[in-house]
Amino acid sequence: MREIIEKLLIDNGVILEGHFLLTSGLHSGLYFEKFKILENPNITALLCSKIAIYFSTYRIEKVVGPTTGGTILAYEIAKQIGAYAGIAEENGKGKRIVKRGSGIREGEKILIVDDVLTTGGSIKATIDAILEKKGIICGVAVLIDRRVKSFKFDYPFYAVYQKAVENFKEEDCPFCKKGIPLTRLGGKKAVPSANH
Ligand SMILES: [Zn+2]
Repeated sequence: MREIIEKLLIDNGVILEGHFLLTSGLHSGLYFEKFKILENPNITALLCSKIAIYFSTYRIEKVVGPTTGGTILAYEIAKQIGAYAGIAEENGKGKRIVKRGSGIREGEKILIVDDVLTTGGSIKATIDAILEKKGIICGVAVLIDRRVKSFKFDYPFYAVYQKAVENFKEEDCPFCKKGIPLTRLGGKKAVPSANH
């Protein structure tokens, strides 16, 4: 099954190989273009069905995802399992809030979903936002888990696709050393940095 999903991701231009500047400032030889999934409702629905099946017995009442990608996944998974969907939007530095619609009710059973898991910052902020409203977190799910060091969540965790991808500081980057042109996110070809 992993091979089938991997082929789907490669064929649709989700997994890109090269030399990429991540938003964190780190460099990487692999980049996941998540919007190649999210712009395609059929592929999004297919991948979300894995998450929906995994958590089908958890009696989830609301699926919550952080903006932007997480909210699209939350809606699709909620539709598949017959739950509500919630948006965890940014609310100050490193904080999130679920306030639109009915927000989070005390005791409400929540599944948190996001697209690509790298540092886990968005998910941790979403967990905090739900706990603050006394929601019950039943699980955390992502489409792609690219962590090298897998810290544990305190909840059942599921990733549709896992691939540990190492990131490098510019001075340690093997792709910089080979002189491979750096690509910035958004598809623009980057000008090689001052060190080259
Ligand atoms: Zn580099």
